[in-house]
Amino acid sequence: ATTVESHGEFIIRSRLPDIYIPDHLPLHSYCFENLSEFRHRPCLIDGSSGKVYSYEDVELTSRRVACGLHRLGICHGDAIMILLQNSPEFVFAFLGASYRGALSTTANPFHTPAEIAKHATASRAKVVITHASYVDKLKGIDGVRVVTIDDRIDGTVHFSELAEANDGEMPAVEIVPDDVVALPYSSGTTGLPKGVMLTHRGLVTNIAQQVDGENPNLYFHKDDVILCLLPMFHIYSINTVMLCGLRVGASILIMQKFEIRSVLELIQKYKATIAPFVPPIVLAFAKSAEVDKYDLSSIRTVMSGAAPLGKDLEDAFRAKLPNARLGQGYGMTEAGPVLAMCLAFAKEPFEIKSGACGTVVRNAEMKIVDLETGRSLPRNQSGEICIRGKQIMKGYLNDPEATAITIDKEGWLHTGDIGYIDDGDELFIVDRLKELIKYKGFQVAPAELEAMLVAHPDIHEAAVVPMKDEAAGEVPVAFVVRSKGSQISEDEIKQYISKQVIYYKRINKVLFADSIPKAPTGKILRKDLRSKLAAA
Ligand code: AMP
Repeated sequence: ATTVESHGEFIIRSRLPDIYIPDHLPLHSYCFENLSEFRHRPCLIDGSSGKVYSYEDVELTSRRVACGLHRLGICHGDAIMILLQNSPEFVFAFLGASYRGALSTTANPFHTPAEIAKHATASRAKVVITHASYVDKLKGIDGVRVVTIDDRIDGTVHFSELAEANDGEMPAVEIVPDDVVALPYSSGTTGLPKGVMLTHRGLVTNIAQQVDGENPNLYFHKDDVILCLLPMFHIYSINTVMLCGLRVGASILIMQKFEIRSVLELIQKYKATIAPFVPPIVLAFAKSAEVDKYDLSSIRTVMSGAAPLGKDLEDAFRAKLPNARLGQGYGMTEAGPVLAMCLAFAKEPFEIKSGACGTVVRNAEMKIVDLETGRSLPRNQSGEICIRGKQIMKGYLNDPEATAITIDKEGWLHTGDIGYIDDGDELFIVDRLKELIKYKGFQVAPAELEAMLVAHPDIHEAAVVPMKDEAAGEVPVAFVVRSKGSQISEDEIKQYISKQVIYYKRINKVLFADSIPKAPTGKILRKDLRSKLAAA
């Protein structure tokens, strides 16, 4: 039995035994711990140029980048911002910062200049590493050094100068396990996007939970070729693709953007074995006639995460690629990020049920709590999913209040997701309690859009909720109360928002209302609005 009942609490642990995790090591040392076994093997394959970097190349270049960052004035505890499409330089920059004892905050380069400036300022990034084509977007940010990875631009540093820095120029740094190494942004269960402090210990633990031990949840090995198609600025790709891949000595096949024919060509050419996807990509594969024209027999594992994957879609995909094992993982940035992983990916695979999003990772505890009483619930009953373990975030940057709402005094992280665990230990997510909207797996924080809406003089009040959408999963929809006498139109509101935000945060529909339903505390009753929308 994997349920531990104590003091009336129902706590679920993995059915796989706990393992030893070397969580005293800095993240880079942990990733390269077994380097001697695969020093000369391909580590990164740049899908667009065909260039291959061995493990030795990657390790050396990352150490040199650490020295280059030091030369640029980056010290222990400082932040750099990686504003890149998927590229080998992303990996060098991330690991370079880790070697330097610094931290990386990552962002989507398609963000608007205002969004980037807000992020860079809040995270106190001292260096931004980006493509030449995005340098103009950084004009409004004071005091950052800009590094470009492709064309040289006046007033910026070129990445090759960082990577040419002399190994050994840097003073020794004393990294402790509690140091922050990654700072992704997430709105969590409520409010605006916040910096999520993930430490060396946290990430080492979460990677070990997936790929270490006798019969790992995720059976990745050094002969694997892992498709790195999901954007590396999202923690799913940094963790489960890049860091897990490095730890086991696999080859990471880097692709910049999703275009079905080029993905299929690359899978066939490099005989990719592992395909980490999100539901919209699973959908594209299930629907595309192109898929049948390529030899995809090398693929043995297809993972889906970041958003719900419907049972029908799972079944359709399985019919299309019958030799690949498809399963789900469940992650949340704050949780380190992986909470649960399908055991069909293990070395000795277990049966799985469609619709399940995995079983809790090892060396961790999970419980489902009643929304009213806060007490943990037995199997097959739905409540809020909570997780505890060394992998979870240290907290939100400079936000102890939001941290205290998310991690309780006993160390349980409250996800804001509703689900249940069945008799086979499998977790099923049934709803989302939190405000978050997920467009193709990307986060849209309603609070951010609401703040912009009410800043418009013609808008008195506003609330943003998700609306189901076949292609995107969810899209943001706004309920708007116009200011007295205002005739502002739906199109005007949409354009006003579009100018300020990245494409996936654009408002899909505006519904005018006389008032926004609120609890006596002033909290928007989002559930009422969601029902209203469903009925509209
Ligand atoms: P993020 O922090 O951007 O990774 O978003 C985390 C949220 O995505 C979770 O709290 C869930 O609401 C949702 N999510 C992640 N994985 C899944 C999954 N397999 N099924 C359903 N929702 C998921």
